[in-house]
Amino acid sequence: MSRSANHTVEILALLILLAIGFFWYFGRAYALEQRSINEWVECDVCAGTGMMKCPACGGFGSVEEMVVCPLCEGTGKHQWKITRGPKAPCPKCLGTGKVMGRKTCERCGGSGVVPCVRCGGTGLIESATQKTQGVFMCPSFWERGLAFVGLSIPSNPCPQRLHNGTYPVVHRFLAVRSGGKDVRVLQWGRFICDQDQWKMTAEIEFEKQNSNTVRKCVEFIVKDRFLLQGHLVEPGSNGAGCSGGKSCSMVGGSARAP
Ligand SMILES: [Zn+2]
Ligand SMILES: [Zn+2]
Ligand SMILES: [Zn+2]
Repeated sequence: MSRSANHTVEILALLILLAIGFFWYFGRAYALEQRSINEWVECDVCAGTGMMKCPACGGFGSVEEMVVCPLCEGTGKHQWKITRGPKAPCPKCLGTGKVMGRKTCERCGGSGVVPCVRCGGTGLIESATQKTQGVFMCPSFWERGLAFVGLSIPSNPCPQRLHNGTYPVVHRFLAVRSGGKDVRVLQWGRFICDQDQWKMTAEIEFEKQNSNTVRKCVEFIVKDRFLLQGHLVEPGSNGAGCSGGKSCSMVGGSARAP
C-alpha cells in the first residue's frame, strides 16, 4: 500500500519534469510579428542641425537695452571741463542718464544659437506619416511561462538561429522589406553582441527587374527584440568578410524550427 503510494509520487515528479523539459525544448521559438514604428526624420525647424536661432536676440548674440550713459555716467548733466559751468543736460542722453546700448544675450550666452525646441537638440523628430516596417520577436511560450511564475525574461535576447545556420527573424525581415522581390541569403553570419545591439552580416542576393542578380553584404541590427535595420556594408568592413563574426555567447542563441 505505502509502496505503491511512493511510486505514484515518483511517477508524478517524473511527469512534471518531463512536461517542463518538453515545454522548454519546444516552447523557446520566438513568434515573429511584423510591426511598424514611426520613422525618425530630419527636424524641419533646425534642418537636422539640432540648433536654432536664439529667439531672444534673433541670432545676434546681444540685445538692445537701456544702459547707463557713458558720457555723463548716469547723471544726465553735461560734464563741463570748467567746474563752475552752467548745468546743461548731457548731449548724449539728453538728460535722461540712459542710452540704448547692446548687452550680451542671456538666453544664448552671446552665441546667437540655442538647442532646437522642436527636437530638443537631436536634429531628429518622429515622423507622423513615414513608418518603418520591422520584425519583432515576441516572447516565446517558455518565456511567457517564466513570466507567469514571476521570473524575468530577457529584454534584449540574441535572435534565434536554426540548426542549418539560418535566422528566422532575418528571413521574415527580408520578406517584409523586399516588397515581393526575390531575395536570397547566400551566406549567413552569426549575430554578435556589440554594445547593446545584436549585429550580423550576411551575403544577400537581390533579384532585379531585368532578372539580373546583385550580391551585397547586409548588416542586420536587432535591439530589444526588434529587427528594424538592415543596411549595406562593404565586404570585409568588419575585417572578416560578409559572414564574419564571432559566435554569440549569450542566452537564447539557438532554437528549434518555429
Ligand atoms: Zn530641431
Ligand atoms: Zn548722458
Ligand atoms: Zn540670444
